[in-house]
Amino acid sequence: MIREIQAKTMLSHRKEPDPWFGYKYNMNIYRGCQHQCIYCDSRSDCYQIEDFNDVLVKVNAIPLLRKELASKRVKGTIGFGAMSDPYTQIERKYQLTRQALEVIAEFRYPIHMLTKSDLVLRDLDLLKRINEVFAIVSFTLTTVDDDLAAILEPQAPLPSARLRAMQTLVENGIPCGVMLMPILPFIEDTPENITSIVEATHQHGGSYILPALGMSLRGRQREYYYEKLNEHFPGLSEKYRRIYSDNYHCPPPNYRALENHLARLCKQHNIPLRVPRYTPPPQPEQLTLF
Ligand code: SF4
Repeated sequence: MIREIQAKTMLSHRKEPDPWFGYKYNMNIYRGCQHQCIYCDSRSDCYQIEDFNDVLVKVNAIPLLRKELASKRVKGTIGFGAMSDPYTQIERKYQLTRQALEVIAEFRYPIHMLTKSDLVLRDLDLLKRINEVFAIVSFTLTTVDDDLAAILEPQAPLPSARLRAMQTLVENGIPCGVMLMPILPFIEDTPENITSIVEATHQHGGSYILPALGMSLRGRQREYYYEKLNEHFPGLSEKYRRIYSDNYHCPPPNYRALENHLARLCKQHNIPLRVPRYTPPPQPEQLTLF
């Protein structure tokens, strides 16, 4: 179900930029996400989204964003896509992500866009304008196997489409990279999977990878994930229960070997395991009277 709501605020902010993603400000125009990845952490109890199948549209997002940016004194990277992909099907109708980018381009703020969708190409003109300041686009890839992704990320564009979109953005001067997260234990935790993602990133012009090998599991999200495991990978949820019990962090048993494998490959291809950061221009020196 789609519901229109009035938001009270648009930008949450941090004192220092997020050490992983580089966000100073964070924005979610939609609540709930139509991509419906079976592992999605946004489904967890703690976020108090009653039904993750519902998508709430913050219809006053644009005037609110304009008002908030006009009153900000510190420029910093605005992150899109932390809790809900900014480019799901509903964005085709509402175009709120596009309108938000128009406002951001006007205020000359940097952005870090996180998505699983090739719909981001629609906004290439605005990304180019914002990139006069700073714009990066990160595509999440947990596998490059389209058939497997269709099970794990049922409504999201396939990895092959994401990679083609990445290549087009890079060819147009927008730096792109890959969020290699999550890596689902006993499904995606093979050296071959990691190799194919790193190779594909390299071949399509990606210039960084941010990894989190393993997954997190907590209330409500865990139950949903196990339900889906039972549907598609019989017997696997029992294995998870045995190994991870109620743990939040669920690394694959071969975590260290995978980590070393990834580091070796990325070094070979000269791909840093870190998201590029926006650096504010130096302030002009103040003139003194004496
Ligand atoms: S795209 Fe991201 S926010 Fe949307 S369902 Fe998938 S993991 Fe969740």
